[in-house]
Amino acid sequence: MWEQRKDGQADKQLETPAPVVPAPAPAQQPQQITPDTLGALNVLLQILAKKEEREAKLEAERQRRDEARDKQREQNAKNVGDKEKLRQARCDHMKGGKNKLANRKDPALYQHTYINAETVIKCLICRMVWKTKDTTEYLWRNGRKIRNHTKWGWEEAYAWLKSSTNQPSSSEIPQRTSADDVPKDAEIFED
Ligand SMILES: [Zn+2]
Repeated sequence: MWEQRKDGQADKQLETPAPVVPAPAPAQQPQQITPDTLGALNVLLQILAKKEEREAKLEAERQRRDEARDKQREQNAKNVGDKEKLRQARCDHMKGGKNKLANRKDPALYQHTYINAETVIKCLICRMVWKTKDTTEYLWRNGRKIRNHTKWGWEEAYAWLKSSTNQPSSSEIPQRTSADDVPKDAEIFED
């Protein structure tokens, strides 16, 4: 029998729970292929297969989106091409302003010669380019005849060009014409 102490120490000690000793881990059994193991493997394979399927779907979706984007881009380019053609078809290739009002037409044309000696006439307003073989009916582009959407061929463009005030440009000739173009008061920076 416990002798009851005045401070109740004995009672308290009795109430303290015994420390929990973790149960020893069960000894590892060597892996055996049992119906259970096969079942678990099957489940795992199914999970992997589903994952694969999901990824394939995502990939297909991604491809579809990319293709749609490419198509849209092409369509946009076509629209831009149409708009440009429309602008070129409507353009009178003449500078605006006083001269136009005074009925003195000043063509917005200039001649450009590439390094390979190919020469073209361009409109500053609509960016139309005429090449030497172009007629009022057809433009020659990359060895192919395409319908001319402007009223002019090379001859018409060239005839107007001669009355133009624009200077010919060339890739070969430097645009600087005189030493005066070099800035005289170039700033010098000092520390
Ligand atoms: Zn034009």
